Amino acid sequence: MEVKKVGVIGAGTMGGGIAHLVASSGFEVLLCDVEQRFLDGALKRMADLMDKRIEKNKMTKEEKDAILGRIKTTTNLDEFAAADYVIEAVIEDVKIKKDVFARLDNICRKEVILATNTSSISITDIASATKRADKVVGMHFFNPPQVMRLVEVVRGYYTSDETVKFVKEMCQKLGKTPIEVKKDSPGFVVNRLMLAQYVEAMKLLEEGVATVEDIDIGVKLGLNHPMGVFELQDFGGLDIGYYVLSYLCEEFKDGRWNPPTSLKVLIRAGRLGRKTGAGWYDYQK
Ligand code: NAD
Repeated sequence: MEVKKVGVIGAGTMGGGIAHLVASSGFEVLLCDVEQRFLDGALKRMADLMDKRIEKNKMTKEEKDAILGRIKTTTNLDEFAAADYVIEAVIEDVKIKKDVFARLDNICRKEVILATNTSSISITDIASATKRADKVVGMHFFNPPQVMRLVEVVRGYYTSDETVKFVKEMCQKLGKTPIEVKKDSPGFVVNRLMLAQYVEAMKLLEEGVATVEDIDIGVKLGLNHPMGVFELQDFGGLDIGYYVLSYLCEEFKDGRWNPPTSLKVLIRAGRLGRKTGAGWYDYQK
């Protein structure tokens, strides 16, 4: 099936970035959120990013106008009847996601593939809200989606080979490298690896083996990661890390994913990372 119009639902951090990426790749985008102010916010963030690129002579004003011209915003999900492919990026709440998928299932043409950008929720569970489980798939982008090169293509129990093939091709059209997550497993591949590192870093700290700063230097210079493990937690939000760890703990019934005490204490102190001005590090200065 040829894709001309991509429906993106949720215009927050990820949905706005995905809409920007998809429009930059030449597709028409229908971007939906619950209130117009969220849609306006997403358009402003895109415009600001592109203005910076124009200042640096990395793109022209005409290119910016063409990209924005390909994005139509709406608060009415019924307009997704015109979409050829859908990417969902609403908040990480299983009830809300299943409600959205049940509605999309009624609105979208029956051949349309419905992808979710969930970071942790079971694709099989989300697909159970529809009558097209073979066409429901995870398309897990990384933040910021315009920049990060990887997409995890995640199979639910009933996701068909054709759907996976289609989404992998879609990733390539968006300039991304897909990896296939062959089973609907908590944390998929990348978050599971990342969270294992989070837990070990916090254990090292709690055991007094090394400081936050030295562990981060070790990760950057010894493992060649661009950011330290504590810096990365501050960037993503400590509450998000806590939520996903608790989810893995519950799903695997394995205490090694238990959120460490040092993390809980920072969250209780309101230090959620960069977004609150402090986390493992202070950003006020
Ligand atoms: P966000 O809170 O920034 O944005 C969510 C948006 O969804 C909000 O604008 C909200 O108004 C909208 N929304 C909520 N209910 C809706 C509904 N019924 N219909 C339409 N819009 C609705 O969240 P985010 O960080 O962009 O995350 C979105 C999804 O992407 C989540 O599933 C998250 O797990 C996943 N994800 C996030 C990251 C990240 O680093 N933030 C990375 C990868 C994947």
